Amino acid sequence: MITIGVLDLQGAVIEHVDKINNISGATALRVKNVKDLEDIDGLIIPGGESTTIGKLLRDFNMLSPLKSKIESGMPVWGTCAGMIILAKSILGSDYNHLGVMGIEVRRNAYGSQLDSFITDEIVEGVSEEKIPLVFIRAPYVEKAHEGVKVLCSLDEKIIACRENNMLATSFHPELTKDLSMHKYFYNMCKDRLK
Ligand code: GLN
Repeated sequence: MITIGVLDLQGAVIEHVDKINNISGATALRVKNVKDLEDIDGLIIPGGESTTIGKLLRDFNMLSPLKSKIESGMPVWGTCAGMIILAKSILGSDYNHLGVMGIEVRRNAYGSQLDSFITDEIVEGVSEEKIPLVFIRAPYVEKAHEGVKVLCSLDEKIIACRENNMLATSFHPELTKDLSMHKYFYNMCKDRLK
C-alpha cells in the first residue's frame, strides 16, 4: 500500500483525500506535523491560500524538514497554491516558500474568484483524452528553468509541469470526477519505491 500525504494546514484537503482513497493500492494520510512526514511515500500540497499555507509551514517548523525530504527525492505535487509553495520564485515578491522547483509563478494570473473557469485539455503522459481543468484564482508558470518538463499549456502559458520528483498544476483536479492526475501522482510515488 502506498501512503500519500495531503498537507492539512489550510485549503482543499478533503477532496484530495477522497481521490487518493479511491485509487486501489493507495491510502491517504492527512499531514499536520513534522512527524507525519515520516509516514508518507509522497505529498500533495493542496490549493488554498499560499501565504497562509507558507506561514503555517513556518510556524509549525515544517518548512525545512519538508524541503529536505523533497530534495532527497520524495514525490510532491502542488496544486494551485501548492504550485506557488513549491516555486523557486514568485513574480513581484522577494520571498519564496519551499523554493524547490525551478519555476517562476505569477499568482492570481487569471484574475479574481469571479474569473474562475473550467476548460478541457490533454495533459501529456497523464491522459490521452481531454480532462476537465478547474481554475480558481490560479497561478501559471511564467518561466520554467532547464530540466522542467511542460505537461500542459493553455494560451501559451504553462499550467502543468514536472521536474524529477516534483509535479505542479495550476488547476484543481480534486474538484472534478476525473482521477487521472491523482493516478499519475500515485505512479510517481510507486515508481520511487521500485
Ligand atoms: N490565489 C491563491 C494564492 O495565491 C491560490 C488559489 C488556489 O489555490 N485556488 O495562493
